[in-house]
Amino acid sequence: MFSKKCPECKKILLKDVFVDSQGNKNPRGKYCVDCKEKKDRELCERHFNGLLYAEKEYMKKYQIMFGDTWKTKAPPNIFLLTLFMELHSCPYCGKSFKIDQNSKDYFKIRDEYHIDHMNPLNLGGEDSLLNAVCVCKNCNLKKSDQHFDVWLKTLSNQQRVIAEKIYIEKLGYPPIQFVPSEPTPRSSGLRYELLLDIEDIIKMKNNGQIY
Ligand SMILES: [Zn+2]
Ligand SMILES: [Zn+2]
Repeated sequence: MFSKKCPECKKILLKDVFVDSQGNKNPRGKYCVDCKEKKDRELCERHFNGLLYAEKEYMKKYQIMFGDTWKTKAPPNIFLLTLFMELHSCPYCGKSFKIDQNSKDYFKIRDEYHIDHMNPLNLGGEDSLLNAVCVCKNCNLKKSDQHFDVWLKTLSNQQRVIAEKIYIEKLGYPPIQFVPSEPTPRSSGLRYELLLDIEDIIKMKNNGQIY
């Protein structure tokens, strides 16, 4: 018995194209290597879509809690995928996000991309969605705590225009106008209201219980 049937593609294949649950070659594995990869991709995508859906729910809840100013209240660290989907490439170096947007692998995205506070927290920048952008890890590490106006000068002409445009669109003023101040504390995790149903948040809002 050198061959067996893959339950996914229904093909009779040589046993040496079968892999185990970790993706390693194994004649006793359930699926052929192609089907295993396809299944993994589908699982990744479902995971990604589930997390993106959760972020959208959080946004709705922030909007209910704070109305038009919700973006200034929402900490960016719970919106990685939303910020990732917002752009097609790193605003600082131009590296394409496209490959990853197709693969939708949350863990890969989390490892390779960072949320950058355009006005650094250490210079008193807001810990808010308005002040945040998804960038490649390299650029985030290079930028560190530099004032955005100083950082812009290190970028290529093309990226400088793009990055400055994003900054102005989000924050509503040119980078030169940002005046550094005392460091901003990082927000500490999830607000418990985000775990409630929307109706309960509306009730709390109407009772003046949300600050
Ligand atoms: Zn197969
Ligand atoms: Zn970059």
